[in-house]
Amino acid sequence: MSTTLSAPPLGLLLEDLVRQHRPRKETGAVPGNIPFLASVPFDRFGIAVATTSGEVFCSGDADVPFSIQSISKVFTLALALQGSRSARLWSRVLREPSGTAFNSLVQLEAEHGIPRNPFINAGALVVTDHLMEETSDAAGQLLRFLTEQAGGQQSGPGKQGPFIDGAAATGELASSSRNLALAHFLKDFGNLAQPAESVVENYVRQCSIMMTCRELARAGLFLANDGQGAAGTVLSRSEAKRIGSIMLTCGMYDAAGEFAYRVGLPGKSGVGGGILVIVPGQCAICVWSPRLDAKGNSLAGTAALADLSDRTGWSVF
Ligand code: GLU
Repeated sequence: MSTTLSAPPLGLLLEDLVRQHRPRKETGAVPGNIPFLASVPFDRFGIAVATTSGEVFCSGDADVPFSIQSISKVFTLALALQGSRSARLWSRVLREPSGTAFNSLVQLEAEHGIPRNPFINAGALVVTDHLMEETSDAAGQLLRFLTEQAGGQQSGPGKQGPFIDGAAATGELASSSRNLALAHFLKDFGNLAQPAESVVENYVRQCSIMMTCRELARAGLFLANDGQGAAGTVLSRSEAKRIGSIMLTCGMYDAAGEFAYRVGLPGKSGVGGGILVIVPGQCAICVWSPRLDAKGNSLAGTAALADLSDRTGWSVF
């Protein structure tokens, strides 16, 4: 992998990205099923880079908390791969790109209740069910993990540490018919041990965690750092590599190919407009801007990452 960090230095480069990519007019979409997300101002844009050498560079709205939504799926997968039960998880969920929408019911039925990968909703529900076999509060477990990896509670305005937005969770739960349908399909195929309603409730609370770009970049650093996190080993080097591989092939909804083409790095996005990206051995990057393209990925965030990758040479290719 090449790194050509020529002038300007990273801090200035991030400031330039904010100048170039912060949306000036209201384009793009917001998800219809999560009312809370529609109220986020369209011109928010933040970016943070946490390096394996321990530095964090930030610019724009990098300290404004936003809803992590499906970025949570990376971290629940990491938790599920810890310990001895991980082999069982891989008998319940595959590792292939889905080629369909992240909340598609059709594929799940056609494939007898085995989700294509852990980053579509059906797969994440299975991962949540797996975590709930050890703790009924998988969302609480995830929150503690993220807080620890993000460096604990941070002082200063807007830096209260990760938290669950209860109102956002309640709002989403009220319009979770599709996720409930997925969970009931999984249950019917024998691929869910807990009640469908509890798994969806837990999953929605995971998605409703609020974090800043700075916190998410720090929390994702173990994936760029051979599995080593803020408080020691999170995963083995091989497991960290494998999560990166699944991010590359399945992390950007039905646009993983386009994202690999434009950015060339493993990423995971959420419909809150965040994208977490890994540069193996070097850094974790989080960009956030709330308006989405037709596939559900942040419009400005994707453009900024393509720009950053071109200007730094950061790529796995
Ligand atoms: N909570 C959202 C849902 O389940 C997450 C969607 C996403 O970010 O991909 O629909």
